[in-house]
Amino acid sequence: MTANAESAAAEDPLAGLAAALFRPMDAEGVYARTALYEGVIEALGARVSAQRVPEAEVLRFPPVMSRRQLEKSGYLDSFPNLLGCVCALHGSESAIRSAADRYAKGGDWTSALAPSDLVLSPAACYPLYPLVAARGRVPAAGLIFDVAGDCFRREPSRSLDRLQSFRMREFVRVGTAEQIREFRDDWMTRAQTLAQDLGLAATLEVASDPFFGRVGQMKAVSQVQQSLKFELLIPYHAGTRPTACMSFNYHREHFGQVWGIQGERGELAHTGCVAFGMDRLAVALFAQHGTVTARWPAGVRRALAL
Ligand code: 5GP
Ligand code: ZN
Repeated sequence: MTANAESAAAEDPLAGLAAALFRPMDAEGVYARTALYEGVIEALGARVSAQRVPEAEVLRFPPVMSRRQLEKSGYLDSFPNLLGCVCALHGSESAIRSAADRYAKGGDWTSALAPSDLVLSPAACYPLYPLVAARGRVPAAGLIFDVAGDCFRREPSRSLDRLQSFRMREFVRVGTAEQIREFRDDWMTRAQTLAQDLGLAATLEVASDPFFGRVGQMKAVSQVQQSLKFELLIPYHAGTRPTACMSFNYHREHFGQVWGIQGERGELAHTGCVAFGMDRLAVALFAQHGTVTARWPAGVRRALAL
């Protein structure tokens, strides 16, 4: 190990896992994934799918979504610092050519970039709500979805549990306040059982989102006071701060209001989601059980059909 690698390992106990799980891609928190790692991601995905209720509708989203939809969702109020926007060279052939040529001459071609109509999705459920709204009133039984997508948050870090690009799987419930509460409570119990089956020591705690700025701190306090968010926390190593591997979110009527989602009697629909941080869960498994899956505890291997 070089001196640099040693100091990185001392700062981050996960650093030793990187060689087995990831390949560098010249950007912090952005990795190519090895077959070993993806095998566990797939096994975890199958385990989550096995818990899906039959009435859930499955949708898989691309890594980008409509900028207009994300703006309307209120993302810029809460997390403007985390958002990644797709920019491109627009204009005539000669304008694009001259910008691109600046690179060849050692100049800055990026000053010619302009925003497109796309952003990188920061969570898997944002594109769902406008789709639900377009279908008309929500039936009395409510709706449930199984969604997933590659998510981006601009938080460069060397830590293996803080990626800029990561995978999120979610179950999303649309309905009455009571239906969302029941769904979320049920999943808070199931998640703890899942962690137990995976041999992961987990705790469930009330949490807040990392709202931006000073006004954001007030939003976070209010979120905690109303118990709108819980997280499943897993310590990767004894003595280290536990990592949030799942979250259980109640949005009240926020998305119902933004998108005009109504229940059968025209009242605003409530929504909630349960998010699995697939990459964090996978890294937790490797941190806990090692990089040789054949040596993982039998119960864990059975739970993942490995
Ligand atoms: P939330 O919307 O609650 O912030 O995110 C849902 C889940 O996505 C989190 O519980 C976590 O497991 C995962 N997640 C959030 N941020 C990151 C990140 O920076 N890196 C990784 N690997 N996962 C994240
Ligand atoms: Zn969500």
